[in-house]
Amino acid sequence: MIDMEQAICALPKAELHVHIEGTIEADLLLTIADRNGISLPYKSAADVVAGQNKGKSDPKQNLDSFIGVLDVCRGVLRSSRDYEDITYGYLKKCQAENIVYAEIMFDPQQGLRQGVGVEAQIEALQSGTQAATRDFGVEAQWIMNFQRDWPAEEALGILEAVQPYRDQIVGIGLDNPERPDFPNTFASVFSAAKKDGYRLTSHCDVHIPNSIEHIRGCINKLGVERIDHGLNSIEDDNVVHQLIEKNIALTACPTRYAFQSETSAEDLAMMTGLLDRGVLISLNSDDPAQFGSGWLSQTLIEAQRTGDLSWETVTKFIRNGFISAWLSSNRKSAYLKEFDRSCEAIRQKQ
Ligand SMILES: [Zn+2]
Repeated sequence: MIDMEQAICALPKAELHVHIEGTIEADLLLTIADRNGISLPYKSAADVVAGQNKGKSDPKQNLDSFIGVLDVCRGVLRSSRDYEDITYGYLKKCQAENIVYAEIMFDPQQGLRQGVGVEAQIEALQSGTQAATRDFGVEAQWIMNFQRDWPAEEALGILEAVQPYRDQIVGIGLDNPERPDFPNTFASVFSAAKKDGYRLTSHCDVHIPNSIEHIRGCINKLGVERIDHGLNSIEDDNVVHQLIEKNIALTACPTRYAFQSETSAEDLAMMTGLLDRGVLISLNSDDPAQFGSGWLSQTLIEAQRTGDLSWETVTKFIRNGFISAWLSSNRKSAYLKEFDRSCEAIRQKQ
């Protein structure tokens, strides 16, 4: 029998839905806050972890209050060095996790409001990536997310400002609180981004009022190629068909911010349901430090246990991560070949 835990850790993995601001570990958070002279509501690394886990015992925890806690972390970022350090920190963790390829999201608006220009952010993310690729052999690309609760005009301005950095950002996405009708609000931003050749994604959080409407809007108005979360798709057969027909991938995250939800069995059933229907869906960690949930391997192990997932299902989810990646077909085939080889080696050892 395959030892699932060991096998999940050993397999090479891709991570496509992870927010760099949600990967800052306690020690690094305290170091950055200290050098920037920012006082945090935490005194020690243990306090940070307790703060990150607080929502799990609070019945009032929702997306907005979760983002409130996340804002404490994002709030310490004040210089290029901070962005370089958090990038290096996450990619170092990737090596330990056997994440060989990552597409990482960053929110430029938060940094801008804290005095770090978007150009400086991108340069720092790139230099952190180069150093980490050199030291840990992990490949990464960046997705620039706009915040849905801030004006679309601001997003358009940023898109224009980053023109000289076009080749350093692979895609454009949307996150932060899910405001009603956001696909219409951001249609002009996405059409401009599409013209510039960016790949397109958007968060559609789980069990939000008008979830299905938002998913439809992202597909039809924003022309997304991926949706981050998007689990409520399963409630509408036409949406499921559209996802399959248009080859739109879902980047799901089994661990959520909600009250008492380490891994929700109901959400996981939606993920496996979508997988069984033929939707290209992968599992990711989202905000691994922020959730206090463990990193990608632990997320996958918890999902496997919660849903009693078979080896075939687990490997299909992981393989889908590579298939959904925004890579050249050559790079993708190389990763898939390596992944299949690792699966075969594990199978033979059992
Ligand atoms: Zn997310």
